[in-house]
Amino acid sequence: MRKDVRILLVGEPKVGKTSLIMSLVSEEFPQVVPYRAEEITIPADVTPERVPTHIVDYSEAEQTDEQLSSEISKANVICIVYAVNNKKSIEKVTSHWIPLINDNTDKDSRVPVILVGNKSDLVEHSSMETILPVMNQYTEIETCVECSAKNLKNISELFYYAQKAVLHPTGPLYCPEEKQMKPACIKALTRIFKVSDLDNDGILNDNELNFFQRTCFNAPLVSQALEDVKNVVRKNVIDGVCDNGLTLKGFLFLHTLFIQRGRHETTWTVLRRFGYDDDLELHQDYLFPLTLKVPPDCTTELNHNAYLFLQSVFDKHDKDRDCALSPEELKDLFDVFPYMPWGPDVNNTVCTNDEGWITYQGYLSQWTLTTYLDVQRCLEYLGYLGYSIISEQESQAVAITVTRDKKIDLQKKQTQRSVFRCNVFGDSGSGKSGFLQAFLGRNLTRQNTVSEEHMSYYAISTAYVYGQEKYLLLHEVFPDFDVLSDTDLACDIVCLVYDASNPHSFEYCARVFKQYFMDTKTPCMMIAAKSDLQEAKQLYALTPLEFCRKHKMPPPQAFTCNTADAPCKDIYTKLTTMAMHPHARLRCMCTCNRCTFCHLQNFINSELVQTVKAKLYTAILSRHVTQADLKSSTFWLRVSAGATVFAVLGFAMYRVLLKQR
Ligand code: GDP
Ligand code: MG
Repeated sequence: MRKDVRILLVGEPKVGKTSLIMSLVSEEFPQVVPYRAEEITIPADVTPERVPTHIVDYSEAEQTDEQLSSEISKANVICIVYAVNNKKSIEKVTSHWIPLINDNTDKDSRVPVILVGNKSDLVEHSSMETILPVMNQYTEIETCVECSAKNLKNISELFYYAQKAVLHPTGPLYCPEEKQMKPACIKALTRIFKVSDLDNDGILNDNELNFFQRTCFNAPLVSQALEDVKNVVRKNVIDGVCDNGLTLKGFLFLHTLFIQRGRHETTWTVLRRFGYDDDLELHQDYLFPLTLKVPPDCTTELNHNAYLFLQSVFDKHDKDRDCALSPEELKDLFDVFPYMPWGPDVNNTVCTNDEGWITYQGYLSQWTLTTYLDVQRCLEYLGYLGYSIISEQESQAVAITVTRDKKIDLQKKQTQRSVFRCNVFGDSGSGKSGFLQAFLGRNLTRQNTVSEEHMSYYAISTAYVYGQEKYLLLHEVFPDFDVLSDTDLACDIVCLVYDASNPHSFEYCARVFKQYFMDTKTPCMMIAAKSDLQEAKQLYALTPLEFCRKHKMPPPQAFTCNTADAPCKDIYTKLTTMAMHPHARLRCMCTCNRCTFCHLQNFINSELVQTVKAKLYTAILSRHVTQADLKSSTFWLRVSAGATVFAVLGFAMYRVLLKQR
């Protein structure tokens, strides 16, 4: 909102400028007035729009042309005063004053003008007949008013109009020549309509209208008022009302009507509530709230409420309910954005369905990724979706959880975080991208269908660790680096990938490990990729297994994405577990089939336990699960409850096994 409003009165001598100001202040007509009134400031709380208002007089007798020019350029609104009984003073409005004002103001940001016909007490007739053509000719004239300083008629109205012309200008909203709203205004209102259309059926029903009314004006419409509004629209536009709700066409018509009736403050209230500034751009404070501080060693995640909101946005656009967003559905979802935020690389960063469309899980993963990597951008995106408005929150920043310092997590040996970052190193051609893509369930055949320029250096999806759903973010680090950046080093786990069939591949991993990670606490995992090919002896002083032993790493994990079905996901669960519990003895993460952990893993994966697990889940769910259920949060709550029970059972078994040893 503006800080203050500066109103300047100009016009021929003796038309009553000074008298108007004095009448407003003293509420009586002054018999004797000076040439020029002192500048007065009306405090915010006594003005109708609650902004401090300065009123500035002009007198030809006391001021130079330069002083006048300077006052004109300082003013936010100018009242050109004429006397209704003085023809010459009316003529001067167009022959002198309007050109003078235009000469002294910017062409692009014309200052609004109000025509004021004073001394209405002296004549029977109105000057409107002469004035209306002038109004139509000059678009900068906001409105006109006849008044009398003597009778105190329309005095406060005059200053109210002046204030309103500054605070709720018509200029950005409406084109008087074409008698319709300007494109930028239509665009903003269309976005507002789409955000408010919670079920995305193209109609604002009574519930949505009430919500809209409540958010914008702090009061719901009584049902009669709602009917009246719809009736006005029905009478004036075909298709303005459909299925007893307001269509976009009807919504836009209503606002045109408000503006034409001089009620543009209504439209402005709506626009400002949805974050728009005076230029009809989304306000920086709305998109980028400053309240969020992210100290080093902390990460950013979306909280439960934000996920619920994003889920509702997904539901609203997944019209065919196939739990994936087709290109049209995705385009529709981002229609409220000024640009398309997700490029084709996103389809290779998150899970997609067989058609390559982003699934529900993939959609949430991408949001999680944006929040983690670039929280400002995430806030901006949430702003476009209208998060703070729809969720009735103070700002977009409420959606974000800043996790506690990782050092404390390590000290306390537990973490509340749900996103873990794994940086993947490896020489070129070692199979890093294949490793990333396999996490998204894609085998080599599927990966080969993706074009090079649509590839992504990130892959994010979920992994279950002891029944809890966590996000694992894989980041492929470009092998030709000179120095590693802090973000490349700061991760929760490191993957070192070598091509098991290429004898020159391992050396790179050994070098990166020794140079960067040997002395850190970050857990590392060696991946022997392309395990489907003939294994080659690595040309290095130690074999990979010896190297891992020497540096207290788990043994190299054989991995291939050259599979008939989706590649096996166990390795990613392992990585997430290690990232979550970096203090745990790393040896337990092996696949040696000899240690307790391996026994336990085998036990958990045994058929008997799987049947018990399945029974347990069915018992908990106890009814048929539909696609819609799969997305509902309560469903996942129930499942994770089940999984926790299972995890606890598993842990008990683990202890029993340990004791036996
Ligand atoms: P300015 O030169 O434009 O500031 O005009 P003034 O305020 O000095 O007024 C010029 C003369 O017009 C004074 O004699 C006022 O008393 C008189 N006057 C101002 N406003 C009105 C009005 O509304 N009605 C009548 N009848 N006389 C007015
Ligand atoms: Mg005067």
